[in-house]
Amino acid sequence: MAFESLTDRLQQAMGRLRRKGKVTEADVKEMMREIRLALLEADVNLQVVKEFTKNVRERAIGVEVLDSLSPAQQIVKIVDEELTKTLGSETVGIEKSPKIPTVIMMVGLQGAGKTTFAGKLANHLIKTEKARPLMIAGDVYRPAAIDQLKVLGQQLDVPVFDMGTEVSPVEIVRQGMALAHEKKNDYVLIDTAGRLHIDEHLMDELSQIKEIAQPNEILLVVDAMTGQDAVNVAESFNKQLGITGVVITKLDGDTRGGAALSIRAVTGAPIKFTGIGEKLTDLEVFHPDRMSSRILGMGDMLTLIEKAQQDFDEKKAEELATKMRENTFDFNDFIEQLDQVMSMGPLEDLLKMIPGMSQVQGMENFKVDPKDVARKKAIVLSMTNAERENPELLNPSRRRRIAAGSGNSVVEVNRLIKQFKESQKMMQQMSKGNMNAIPGMDQM
Ligand code: GDP
Repeated sequence: MAFESLTDRLQQAMGRLRRKGKVTEADVKEMMREIRLALLEADVNLQVVKEFTKNVRERAIGVEVLDSLSPAQQIVKIVDEELTKTLGSETVGIEKSPKIPTVIMMVGLQGAGKTTFAGKLANHLIKTEKARPLMIAGDVYRPAAIDQLKVLGQQLDVPVFDMGTEVSPVEIVRQGMALAHEKKNDYVLIDTAGRLHIDEHLMDELSQIKEIAQPNEILLVVDAMTGQDAVNVAESFNKQLGITGVVITKLDGDTRGGAALSIRAVTGAPIKFTGIGEKLTDLEVFHPDRMSSRILGMGDMLTLIEKAQQDFDEKKAEELATKMRENTFDFNDFIEQLDQVMSMGPLEDLLKMIPGMSQVQGMENFKVDPKDVARKKAIVLSMTNAERENPELLNPSRRRRIAAGSGNSVVEVNRLIKQFKESQKMMQQMSKGNMNAIPGMDQM
């Protein structure tokens, strides 16, 4: 997953303050030096790093922070706020046309993930607004692109307009637009060609398509794995075409994260979506605050809940949210969540969305080993229903019984119960909006 080492480094830098009783200006400077290095190593644009560290330093050295009772937590809050600002502050959705169709043009280099994103976006629009999109296959240079789009269209039951590879993309778009008007499609998604590098001919062609389609959105699709190159590409496309938003793909990969952190500040164009895998559902709406929270290792519970809502039973997800609010989350819910999460894809990525998960002791065992999850499940299954509903009943003799019954040691049973109680506490605090009480933040 992206940002892994950045998260570690930032947590280390801020964690050192936590261990100090009193935080001095020199401590803040030292922390800022480490944060600066961490960002540079993550391949964040130099200007962006400078601006960011300047803003954090100014605020952190302010009297109210150093004199406060919990300077370390105040500083985490400032870093979080400034990071959110760097990522764009507001969530910016698709700009809709007052009258149908809303036209969205995908642009970007070859291999960035345009065609895949066109499919994901169609799926997203269908799921969230019951949209009736038409996709136009305008990438006539990459031989497989048209077929790829058609396959996606079939999977989604979305019509794909194509004229093969012998007709100019400009003409294809002209006719595709006419069809969309005739069929009253509410969205038109135009897949365009990319090159390995930016070239003039491509830009000319894209400008002509823009002229004809009059898109509401020109979304630039960039590959997070290409780091600063993605930022340069974004700058060029923006200058020549005027992009309205950015889609960062392959954030599921092992990228250091520099592109995601720099692109908004450098181009001014908002990041609108991120791609987190090859499947049609591997798309996330980009929320700067949630992304910041994730980068700082504070988790992203909202996205997790939304994912649960999308991938699973909506009623169940609502119940979970209510239980979190009312603090009635018990071991039965815990086990149900384990089962759901297990079937939701890469476990470690999901778990990191839970605040504090990366820091809670023992939770790292949760990460990738399905056997470990199975063991935890076995422990819960060895509890009586009364115990699951009321973990307070779990006295030493009951714990011994559960350990024996599930084939685990008492230490493991104790650990699971402790983790459970910590999560319970965290959920309750979170639902009260008290970020400082989140276990992970505590340890910073
Ligand atoms: P295009 O040339 O810009 O249309 O790129 P494609 O849509 O064909 O994507 C290029 C490759 O990247 C394909 O193998 C996709 O499956 C893959 N891809 C696209 N988006 C993502 C993503 O978010 N994560 C991962 N891991 N792979 C992706």
